[in-house]
Amino acid sequence: MSRIGVFICHCGVNISSVVDVEKLAEELAHEDGVAFSTEYKYMCSDPGQRIIKDAMEEHDLDGVVVASCSPRLHERTFQLCVEGAGLNRYKMEMANIREQCSWVHKDKEFATEKARDLIKMAVAKVRKNQPFDQLSIPVFKKALVIGGGIAGMQASIDIANAGHKVTLVERTPTIGGRMAQLDKTFPTLDCSA
Ligand code: SF4
Repeated sequence: MSRIGVFICHCGVNISSVVDVEKLAEELAHEDGVAFSTEYKYMCSDPGQRIIKDAMEEHDLDGVVVASCSPRLHERTFQLCVEGAGLNRYKMEMANIREQCSWVHKDKEFATEKARDLIKMAVAKVRKNQPFDQLSIPVFKKALVIGGGIAGMQASIDIANAGHKVTLVERTPTIGGRMAQLDKTFPTLDCSA
């Protein structure tokens, strides 16, 4: 059985003026696999992250859901937060209840219902998430372009002009693709070859 913690952010009044965060924190505590649920004014702040770390230790959490803003803004913040408390960063999921909910709805009841669904989906996802290790793989600055039609030829030239070695592969005996099969091109009637 998972032991997931749910942390719901008010974002000042950005979320809490439209979504009933206290009610959700109370309800989510009874969700399958959820061992702890709470809400806080600013979850990304130092005290907010402290709440997450303390709860992880106290409740032995093996997954974390942060219901707040877009992951574009704070996914890394919360990944580093849980990692600092010994949990793999991919065992943390964010539910975007600000940009995708409180900022686009006015009806509190509806917005709260939608936020509940978004959080429950994140809980379901984190339940199935596997821990991953990050790998560093050396990258060679070489490109392989498959297909010697116009797009492939142009891409090869662009990459070569950017200073990288390119290998262009074409399965037929000639390059030029469909273009090379045409006689003239509209509107200038230039010879396509
Ligand atoms: S975590 Fe996101 S939603 Fe919460 S206070 Fe910080 S910026 Fe606002």
